[in-house]
Amino acid sequence: MTDESTKRTLRFIHIPEKVAEEARRTRIDAFGHHLKSYQGRESCRVCLNISREPEDFLLLSYRPLPDRNPYAEVGPIFIHERECTPYGSLDEFPEDFRSRALVLRAYDGDGEIVDATVAAAGEGERAAANFLDNPTVEEVHVRHPTYTCFDFKVVRG
Ligand SMILES: [Zn+2]
Repeated sequence: MTDESTKRTLRFIHIPEKVAEEARRTRIDAFGHHLKSYQGRESCRVCLNISREPEDFLLLSYRPLPDRNPYAEVGPIFIHERECTPYGSLDEFPEDFRSRALVLRAYDGDGEIVDATVAAAGEGERAAANFLDNPTVEEVHVRHPTYTCFDFKVVRG
């Protein structure tokens, strides 16, 4: 698969804006945790930027799959504490994530895992495309290579 066709056929999906809006407004996440501010250079799961300078973030629990089976794990994610612009280039791999190795997990339509890999820096887009060539795979989750926190989803365009 060429890079051109990859760009046409993949979508890169940030967390729902409603999740971020409620966390910022209520300071409580969907799992009842009271949220506090963190300052650091983190990756925001709404705008899909990795900050270069320390910024204020909220840390909350998020479950990227519907709660249908044991694969529906809950984990920590950072979002900007301030309102930020949701990632808009849905057909382009988030630039900030090209420079790091990534864990990729592929799930079927029932939220059961199909495959997983560690992609080297710059290889995440191709690895996601390879998983999505398998018709069984419905979505690929991109995660941090060591902490393994959820970053964003990849689906077919
Ligand atoms: Zn952000």
